[in-house]
Amino acid sequence: THFGFRDVPLGEKQTLVNDVFHSVASRYDLMNDLMSAGLHRVWKDIMITALDPPKGDRPFALLDVAGGTGDIAFRAAKTAGPGFHATVCDINGDMLAVGRERAAKQHLGDRVSFVEGNAETLGFADRAFDAYTIAFGIRNVPQIDLALREAYRVLKPGSRFLCLEFSTVDVPGLDRLYDLFSFKVIPPLGRAVTGDAESYQYLVESIRKFPRPPAFAEMIGTAGFKRVKWQSLSGGIVALHSGWRL
Ligand code: SAM
Repeated sequence: THFGFRDVPLGEKQTLVNDVFHSVASRYDLMNDLMSAGLHRVWKDIMITALDPPKGDRPFALLDVAGGTGDIAFRAAKTAGPGFHATVCDINGDMLAVGRERAAKQHLGDRVSFVEGNAETLGFADRAFDAYTIAFGIRNVPQIDLALREAYRVLKPGSRFLCLEFSTVDVPGLDRLYDLFSFKVIPPLGRAVTGDAESYQYLVESIRKFPRPPAFAEMIGTAGFKRVKWQSLSGGIVALHSGWRL
């Protein structure tokens, strides 16, 4: 069977997305390594370098939305100083549960907290955070414009929005290889490891549907962010967008 996500009404998209991540939560981290051949670690490190959390005592509150099992928050916490705190917000309790376990194992329980919530309607005060990150998450949110407006709302003036997301491969040769990999390798690999090929079929389709970098940059600007930029990584497999709330 086939989800046919393209035809799903907006109201049902979130339910399907939730099914995907409920189904893969326990093997999510392993799948990331397998499917990206470890590259997701490099991309995430590039995001953390761009974020550049303060090394000293200065308080710094990061909000990592769609933070899942906590990768971005942990990586940031490890490079940051003692004033750093990360809040991982995700709509899926199963992903957060895996994250909490990982935090305890890495002795990061007091520097990273986990909160269930929807990117479209964040339960945080205006101007509460010093940075907002979202990695491989915004593609899953049904109403991206709402999520971007919420990001703007919860950021303090003078702080930054950073978004890592799959993008469009535009290097001749690599594009065909990437298509082959996406459609022929990822769904069967997903089935082998998580018993769920459909979730990974969804992953591939949602990447195709996501706006190209210039269009996404424009959406970020529409939400109010200034000095919006993006950087293509690994031949366009991934893009890192950023903007400032001024
Ligand atoms: N940021 C993590 C990482 O890079 O490893 C996890 C990314 S995972 C591909 C996408 C996450 O988005 C899932 O944990 C999913 O539950 C979450 N998600 C989907 N829709 C969401 C929404 N509307 N609000 C918040 N999180 C959402």
